[in-house]
Amino acid sequence: MLDVKGAGQKLRMGGAAASVRHYRARTIIADVPIEEVQSECLRSVSAHFYGMSQWFGISNVRESVGHNDQGRIASFTVRVEAQAEQSIALSGGRELALSAHWSTQGDRDRRTINAPVELTCRSKRPQSLWALRQSLLRVQDLVSFCFEGFIQAEGGLAIPDLRSKSPDELRLWDAWLMVTPAGVAPAERREFPLLTLQDLGGVPALRRWLVLCGKHLRAVRPMIEPYRQGKASPPLRILEVAAAMEYWVAAHRRSAKWTREKCCRKGSQGCGWVWPIVRHVGPSFEEWVGDSREWSHLFWGTYNKLKHEPEYVFDEGDLAVLAESASMLLSVALLCRVAGNKGPARLLFADTSHTWNLQRRVQLLLGH
Ligand SMILES: [Zn+2]
Repeated sequence: MLDVKGAGQKLRMGGAAASVRHYRARTIIADVPIEEVQSECLRSVSAHFYGMSQWFGISNVRESVGHNDQGRIASFTVRVEAQAEQSIALSGGRELALSAHWSTQGDRDRRTINAPVELTCRSKRPQSLWALRQSLLRVQDLVSFCFEGFIQAEGGLAIPDLRSKSPDELRLWDAWLMVTPAGVAPAERREFPLLTLQDLGGVPALRRWLVLCGKHLRAVRPMIEPYRQGKASPPLRILEVAAAMEYWVAAHRRSAKWTREKCCRKGSQGCGWVWPIVRHVGPSFEEWVGDSREWSHLFWGTYNKLKHEPEYVFDEGDLAVLAESASMLLSVALLCRVAGNKGPARLLFADTSHTWNLQRRVQLLLGH
């Protein structure tokens, strides 16, 4: 057991009953040869995701149907094949690997094939569970964002720090990866994600995403937190998204020109730090939102009122529209950084198949 959250005991004196100590842990590795354990560290942690092979762009299952002379279906073949692993180097001597795991179980006439996507974080020098699991959680956050709901890992493996040179992978259960957090909705549909990994640039984009999270978690939080903590109420959402925007612009003020974009109305600073982000994300957002100047002033003005005017009375529905559109803008700005191009902006704003409903509500709010 790693990450032990509590312990208790039931003492029994006399009679046939035994005393019991019980422990609660958020991470469990099964069948560890305990005499070989050298430390609490691990060499690798893997998580298995089902129904995600299309999103990750890897597939190891091929199905084919054979027909007889009459054109009727006569055979069905499933071929499961190991795939070349794709890996990227992370900081601290860690490596993130994406592959397709497969295993079968059951009798020949009732065979079950398991072929999930396997995401592994490993290190030659054994490291803490926290250090290895962190990057898996962040990738899970990205996937959950893309599916607009928590994507649960269903199964996992780990290699503890054992004396043996080539230890087996052991079964892992981990609450952070495998249990949908309270107050968070699981992903409902798997066939129509906002973006796929290919849209962001494939496996190298995972590395850029992890670097972004490592360096600028304050900017990324409002994008991923709804899938870890649950969604905050609209006023809180506006506060956290706007604060993240302030941070994101401030973090680039010295290095990037786009942060110097001045207010769109003379003598006003009313559109604050959302305006440089609007301009940087570019025309696809400006066209999507209709009147980007008005939207920016309304959003930033609302943020300032929430912060500074205790008597400010607001319409919860209007606030929800502002919060959702602003968090979509921030997320797209961050994803454009991950992709290294404006592809995510085009896919989510120029193409409105995912965002038309929100777009309609924004334009109603702005009176268009
Ligand atoms: Zn302005």
